[in-house]
Amino acid sequence: MTDIQKKIIKLKEDKNAIVLAHYYQTMDIQEVADFVGDSFELAKIAQNTEKPIIVLCGVRFMAESAKILNPEKTVLLPASNAGCLMADMITPSDVIKLKKEHPKAAVMCYVNSTAETKTYCDICCTSSSAVKIAKSLKEEEIIFIPDRNLGSYVAEQVPEKKFYFYRGFCPIHNIVSADEVVEARQKYVDAPVVVHPECNKAVRDAADFIGSTSAIIKYVENSDKKEFIIGTEIGVVERINQLIPGKKAYLLSNHLSCINMKKTKITDVLNALENLEEVIELDKDTMDKARITLERMVSVN
Ligand code: SF4
Repeated sequence: MTDIQKKIIKLKEDKNAIVLAHYYQTMDIQEVADFVGDSFELAKIAQNTEKPIIVLCGVRFMAESAKILNPEKTVLLPASNAGCLMADMITPSDVIKLKKEHPKAAVMCYVNSTAETKTYCDICCTSSSAVKIAKSLKEEEIIFIPDRNLGSYVAEQVPEKKFYFYRGFCPIHNIVSADEVVEARQKYVDAPVVVHPECNKAVRDAADFIGSTSAIIKYVENSDKKEFIIGTEIGVVERINQLIPGKKAYLLSNHLSCINMKKTKITDVLNALENLEEVIELDKDTMDKARITLERMVSVN
């Protein structure tokens, strides 16, 4: 453990803070976190923690969700410029337009969205909960925003409902091609291809397993196979290679590194705890409306 990591661990105790890290964070940050998980797991931990300070090592929408679920707590985002390219692709006016076009449809919003966008929606979902949530809705029509790839994946699993999509996507996952799957299979002949539903349909169709980051890690843990081709962010590959003995993960594509997730450095986590910054601030009305969508999501699971 480095001196900076030791300082962070001491500061967590001194300030009574909890550090939450997404799987896409670098391993030095994952090592000092109290909990590492995907968006849904982090939201649930943030909702249940008793600690007054939450340091969210991830991107802005995750810190916003933690704040919305804990309005009385101090939520810190260590890298204030860590946004999400997908979340920024949609605006409230886009949602209003879709609602006008499809008035009978429920609006289901991937958590990878801004707090403001969430206020125009009926329920949130994560990649791990999206299918279950779509099935749980009483409406037969669903507007799915902002990720057209996750949306089409959910629609395939829930054929009894009619879906309308927005054009958003994750540039990191969407750029991976089916040709890269073919190339990886030729290189690692015995390794199954395991991809995230944010990948495009051609890649999903070429894969052996599709799942959220948590589901991908569980798949690797429980599989009899020793090698895996992983179609999600490189942080997941690093975690598997470091923490799951006897298993070897290979990255499906060199494109799979999220610049925004990598903006948080270990020194930023130290700074966040030392100086209590950046504090996430949202207006009460936005939080109250967005909280309904997040609490509905958590209650389905
Ligand atoms: S990997 Fe994609 S969806 Fe996730 S934070 Fe980065 S840009 Fe956003």
